[in-house]
Amino acid sequence: MQRLLSISIKTNSSVILKRIKLKKKRNFFLCFFACLVFYFLYKATPLTDPHSPLFHNVIVHLDLKGAPLKLVYLQTNFLRFLTMFRVNAILVEYEDMFPFTAKLINVSSPHCYGKLTLKRFFDAVFFSNMDVIPLIQTFGNLEYLFKHPELAHLRENPGSADTICPNHPGSMKVLKNVIVQIMDFHKKLGPIQYVHIGGNEALHINECDRCRKTNMSRLAQYQKHIQTVVSIIKEHSPNTKVMMWDNLLRGANKDEIVKLPVEIVVWEGEPEVKATPSELTELMTHYNDYWVASSYKCADGEASLFPIMEQRFKNHYNWMRVVASMPALDRPKGIILTGPARYRHSAPVCELLPISIPSIALNLVTVTSFDAQINLNRTKDWKQYYFEHIHPYLGNYINIESLFSLFKRDGYCHAQYLGTEIADNLRLFYGIEDGLKNYDVQGYPGNKTELFTKMNNTIERYRAKVLTDLLEVFKEEVAKDYLSYFVEHLNQILNERMIQEEKLLHLNNTM
Ligand SMILES: [Zn+2]
Repeated sequence: MQRLLSISIKTNSSVILKRIKLKKKRNFFLCFFACLVFYFLYKATPLTDPHSPLFHNVIVHLDLKGAPLKLVYLQTNFLRFLTMFRVNAILVEYEDMFPFTAKLINVSSPHCYGKLTLKRFFDAVFFSNMDVIPLIQTFGNLEYLFKHPELAHLRENPGSADTICPNHPGSMKVLKNVIVQIMDFHKKLGPIQYVHIGGNEALHINECDRCRKTNMSRLAQYQKHIQTVVSIIKEHSPNTKVMMWDNLLRGANKDEIVKLPVEIVVWEGEPEVKATPSELTELMTHYNDYWVASSYKCADGEASLFPIMEQRFKNHYNWMRVVASMPALDRPKGIILTGPARYRHSAPVCELLPISIPSIALNLVTVTSFDAQINLNRTKDWKQYYFEHIHPYLGNYINIESLFSLFKRDGYCHAQYLGTEIADNLRLFYGIEDGLKNYDVQGYPGNKTELFTKMNNTIERYRAKVLTDLLEVFKEEVAKDYLSYFVEHLNQILNERMIQEEKLLHLNNTM
């Protein structure tokens, strides 16, 4: 009986143990599946709405500095255009176009936007089911601050206004003021999901005595500064996530890399993308998550008038190929299509936004339609891919008359979009430039002074024609400012030709 009891107890206890084990197993699997579901949901949670087969988030960079556009143009044209592609956020870069107040009041450009104008624009952005991500430069690209004499003492290198000295006691006060003013403005519009803190082009690190005395490496100095910036943002808005460019961390010694509380954005704007799937996957071990970024404009030369469509398309196409070759779980959280206003603060504005519309359309179609299932090996090259998979849909967004027109320098003549007139008229610049350079002045049968007057009139007519179109999208001072670069260039050629002619005349008279 006792034995039976013992067997029964043993049996019962083994059954109970088995049940406990089963329960543990079940709990383990439940936990595992819950984690998996959570992970998928977390990875899949887009800023607003899913759309692209490869990316949960597609963001377009809107750089307001340089040649600031009228917000009414952006609101009525640009925004409506983006909505067609179901872009889910815009990355807004202000620099001196933000209406700073108090101690920063001198930092704002005379053309800066008013808060009410900005609010109206962002309300329209939210209404279009898109989010807004402010981009606040916090290490390099700070010329807009440090070109001002009252802030010049915060430069890392006295001869260069681009980089902040992270160890100067005044630096963080100014930077905090910039961050807080921009974030306070955005917080009033709604919760800030993301802030981008730049982090690229810090060209002068560890150059001043104060920084060198810390005996920290450049990388350690850089990472420490980023940590301080992130803590300011988190202190001000704890739920806001932080993004930053990867440029200064790429290729860094792995032993020196610290886990920064940021989502890293891998930017590559060249046609050939160098980042490999394994490099991208590894980023997830160092950072909270990662994104990729491409260029739809301002990557084809600092004085470029038009984006080179072939280059821009290859850049996006090659990014898609890299991402499509990765397992779904390892893919980036999204893509940011960048379009800076200029190469650096003192450089001329390149490729105006209204002129870059065909590039945005082409590359948004590419990004939002790219299907990883398509056997890319069957596609011989980017051109074949374009004609088979992109071109049939591109016509839904912009009117293209010629199949090949987009990939020619004058292709803009054959595409109708918001900005066609500006592009067509700006294009005349090349013709006038060629004419001025190559006209056979000696062969002109009439009076040479009359000829130069005619040439000068051509430049003036050009100025008036382009200005009329630019005024549709820019304030008068901004439009004149932008145009002066081209007109000055043409006048310079004309002057050189006149001096050349005078020299020839002088030479002929003395012979
Ligand atoms: Zn320093």
